[in-house]
Amino acid sequence: MKIERTLVLIKPDGISRGLIGRIISRFEDAGMKIVAMKLQQVDESQALQHYTEDISVRRGEKVRELLVDFLKAGTILAAVIEGVNVIENVRKMVGSTEPKSAAPGTIRGDFAHVSFSYADSNEKVVENLIHASSDEKDAEREIWLWFNQNEICEYKTVHETHTF
Ligand code: ADP
Repeated sequence: MKIERTLVLIKPDGISRGLIGRIISRFEDAGMKIVAMKLQQVDESQALQHYTEDISVRRGEKVRELLVDFLKAGTILAAVIEGVNVIENVRKMVGSTEPKSAAPGTIRGDFAHVSFSYADSNEKVVENLIHASSDEKDAEREIWLWFNQNEICEYKTVHETHTF
């Protein structure tokens, strides 16, 4: 059994659409544990550190620029979520990058619908509500980009204290 931590951001489109509660409750419903959470305005430096050069390589420099401007323009919610294989499990619940092709039942599939081509032809980011770390290395780097050690809380859920 592998307990892991992952970083989730509700991006400005998720905040402005009033989806904080509905998104976070999905992780709680799955029995995952929220160990840190905050609302924040993002500055350019933090946005660039979050969306590193790797995005330019995979998606193009223009997408990285649009993403940084998008994050800077609004408010985000950052959270650290803990659980069994939580990095992979949260990505599965988030769904694929393009909402148009994200499966129903996933956050992006249920709450968004836009396509890559719509975003690209309007010079916008694909507004897909949420970011979740993609692997252990990213999770480690991203958690410490958004949180300090003293912001990570320790408590027991009922599942952890329940004894037979
Ligand atoms: P994910 O967020 O699913 O891990 P990526 O890390 O590849 O996906 O991309 C980061 C974000 O960049 C995506 O969530 C999306 O908001 C945006 N994005 C990716 N590709 C495009 C594109 N072709 N056009 C516009 N925005 C994009």
